[in-house]
Amino acid sequence: MSLERIDEWLEQVNNIGKTSAPGLYRLAYTREEQDALDVFRGLCEKEGMTVRDDAAGNLIARREGTADFPAVALGSHLDTVYAGGQYDGTLGVLAGLEVIHRLNQKNLRTTHPVEVIVFRAEESSRFGTATIGSKLMSGKADLSKLAALKDKDGIPFPEAVERAGFSFEKLADARRPQSDIKTFMELHIEQGPVLESKQLPVGIVTGIAAPLRLRVHVKGQASHSGTTSMDMRRDALTGASALILDLEAGARKEKDNHTVATVGSIEASPGAMNVIPGQCRFDVDIRSTDTASRERVYRQFLQTAGLLEQTRGLSVQIETLAEEQPVPLSSQVQNGLKEICSNLNLTPVWMPSGAGHDVMNMAEQWPSGLLFVPSVNGLSHHPDEFTSLAHTVEAVDVLEHAVHIEADAGRSKNHMEVRS
Ligand SMILES: [Zn+2]
Repeated sequence: MSLERIDEWLEQVNNIGKTSAPGLYRLAYTREEQDALDVFRGLCEKEGMTVRDDAAGNLIARREGTADFPAVALGSHLDTVYAGGQYDGTLGVLAGLEVIHRLNQKNLRTTHPVEVIVFRAEESSRFGTATIGSKLMSGKADLSKLAALKDKDGIPFPEAVERAGFSFEKLADARRPQSDIKTFMELHIEQGPVLESKQLPVGIVTGIAAPLRLRVHVKGQASHSGTTSMDMRRDALTGASALILDLEAGARKEKDNHTVATVGSIEASPGAMNVIPGQCRFDVDIRSTDTASRERVYRQFLQTAGLLEQTRGLSVQIETLAEEQPVPLSSQVQNGLKEICSNLNLTPVWMPSGAGHDVMNMAEQWPSGLLFVPSVNGLSHHPDEFTSLAHTVEAVDVLEHAVHIEADAGRSKNHMEVRS
């Protein structure tokens, strides 16, 4: 039953953001994200929850407890990247709803309220900054930085927020007091190949790797491709290429520390076949749960950039776009999840998360946990992203039990995890 229900909900939500091209387009603070939230709002109301939007447009659906205690919150996001998949974020939100449905079905009262939260703007695709909604909720957002963001059409972030019906000036009101929430838990697709390769359905995440993001401007000299001899060139693109390959080599050396480095965006100008590129801009993303390892990759990159300036007559400017700290997740929550897994005869995989998630912001404010479910071929941010619902249901079982314990669903106090 669970499986069919989640499948049906997935279809309803993923009806939104379709275009003639493959994949889903529900970018942050667009009509499509709003429409998906509205579909979800309807589903929550059917489950008897009260639903509100906070000042940032995060949706908070709540099932009251028998006491006015801090809520046990579950959540994820419904926005997607360009040409996104059907499971990233969406599955976590629906898993929360399924837990609520089961509580309703079993007619269980909980002492603590249970919430399902849909965070806004988790993906960085539109504004270059990720997990905006959860940053605002946990009080981690830097409003002056948000004010300066623009999307690729030049629409400033504050304007996008206003167009979505919220006030940029009031965004900070989305911050929730510590006493609002007891525990936060997120279920998310792994977006990597580990669980699938081990043929295990559930990952317990130990911490979130943090990205260091750089924008690199390489300047050389544009000139005629036919008349400039090879030794007279100051080609910004070939210089950038050398730098990118060196970055890859540097990250490979740190493989055992799960450190990764990527250049996913590059632009050369003037961009004509018969002109040597005089300028090149590319973006670097270096991630790890180990900051020292990440730093080593960064240092080598700086060093190589310096060498390149000398050997190729280029100038290299490196701008830091983001430098985030890795976030460990609550060991108490991890251990609780582990115990539930063993009661359910599931063998969990302990793993770090290479991707950022809303839980990393929540974890700085509230004890938090993250469960992974397998991604077929490790694929995500892609129209072919797929997670079997049979695996999802197993992870939802874990989440459901965690909610029973955390929210005290008809259990005696002795069985509760005590956390102040
Ligand atoms: Zn996600």
